[in-house]
Amino acid sequence: MTMNASPEKLVIRNIGLILSGRLEAPIMDGDCVIAVDGRIAAFGHEKDLDTADATTTVDANGVTLAPGLIDSHVHPVIGDYTPRQQQLHWIDSTLHGGVTTMISAGEVHLPGRPRDVVGLKAMAIASQRWYEHFRPSGVKVHAGAPVLETGMVEQDFKDLADAGVKLLGEVGLGSVKDGKTARQMVDWARKYGIQSTIHTGGPSIPGSGLIDADMVLETGADVIGHINGGHSALPDDQIVCLCENCLKGIEVVHNGNERAAVLTVNTARELKQMNRVILGTDGPAGSGVQPLGILRLVAMLSAFANVPAEQAFCFATGNTARERNLDCGLIEAGRAADFVLMDQAQHAPGRNILESIELGNLPGIGMTIIDGVVRSGRSRNTPPARRLPEVVPD
Ligand SMILES: [Zn+2]
Repeated sequence: MTMNASPEKLVIRNIGLILSGRLEAPIMDGDCVIAVDGRIAAFGHEKDLDTADATTTVDANGVTLAPGLIDSHVHPVIGDYTPRQQQLHWIDSTLHGGVTTMISAGEVHLPGRPRDVVGLKAMAIASQRWYEHFRPSGVKVHAGAPVLETGMVEQDFKDLADAGVKLLGEVGLGSVKDGKTARQMVDWARKYGIQSTIHTGGPSIPGSGLIDADMVLETGADVIGHINGGHSALPDDQIVCLCENCLKGIEVVHNGNERAAVLTVNTARELKQMNRVILGTDGPAGSGVQPLGILRLVAMLSAFANVPAEQAFCFATGNTARERNLDCGLIEAGRAADFVLMDQAQHAPGRNILESIELGNLPGIGMTIIDGVVRSGRSRNTPPARRLPEVVPD
C-alpha cells in the first residue's frame, strides 16, 4: 500500500433532511455534509460550504441522512459468524439495516467458553483483538466483554484493562449471581475504566437466572441492560422503580417484552430523562438474528410510545454514543463519519419519512457510510426506498 498524502474528502450533497442524533435538537438545518479522512468536517447548506476537491461525492437525491445506527447489545463470537443460530454474515445483514456500530454484551455463545479466570480473561482479550483487527463489512464491533465468574480479584480487572478490554459482559450471565459480589467486581471494573452492563429480568435461556430491580440497584452497573427483559420482563413496578432510582443508561432491546419497552419510554418521558434511553437487539439469541432490529425498535417506539420519529432515532444514535462514550452517533465536527441514508419506503403511508415511521413503518435504506467510506448501497433487507442516493462518477 502506498501512503495517501492528500486527504480523503467525502461530500454528501442534496440531502433532504438531516437528523442530528441529538435529542435536544434532532433535526438540523442544511442539505450537505462533508467528511475529511473519515471524520465529519462541516455541514449545513452546500452554498456556504467548501465542496471542492472531493475524492467521493454522493448525491443524496433528497433522502434523509442520520448518524449510523448503534446496536448497544449484541452477542458476537467470531468474525461474521454466530454459532447461536448457525448464521453466517449476520453482521453484514445488520449493516443493511443501518447499523454501523455494535457493542458486545458478552461473547457467551462460544461453544465451550472458558469459565475459569485465566481462560475467560484470555478469551476476552482475544475477542477484543479479533474485532479490532477485522470489521465485518466495515461494521465497528466493540467486543471482548468478559462475564463475571466467581473467584475474580481486583488484579484481574487491572490485567484486562491493561490489555485493552473496555467492556464487561452482562452481569448475571456468569456464576456471580449475588448483588454484593457483583457490586465489588463492577466497582473494580469501573476503577480501571471498564464499562459494565447487567442482565435485567427473568432467565433468557436455560442456565441463566433472574435479576430483579433490587439486584440491579445493588450492583450499580453503568447500563441497565435490557430493562424490558431478554425475554421475560420484570413486573411494571420494578421497571418504573429502576427508571426512577438510578441515573444509568436504560437499554431497551428488540428481543425483550415490547409492552415493557413502551412502559420504559413513557416512564423516561415523565421523568424528563429520555436522553437515557438506548437501543439494542440482544441478538444473536434464541429469537435469532434481527438485521432490522434497531429500525424496528425505532418504528415500534415511535408508533406505540408516541415518540416523534426524529427523537426515536436519537435513542439509536446520539443517546447511545453519549452513554457508551463512543466517537460516533452525532452529526458534529470531529465525530466519525458514520451515516445511514434512507427514505420513506415505497407505498408506505404517511406524508413523509418521519410520519411514515410514526405510523409504524420501516424506512427504506439506500446507503451506509462508515468512516467516510461508502459500505453498502440499496439495502437488500429493508423495503425499497422511494428515492436512492448515488455515488457521482468522477
Ligand atoms: Zn441478557
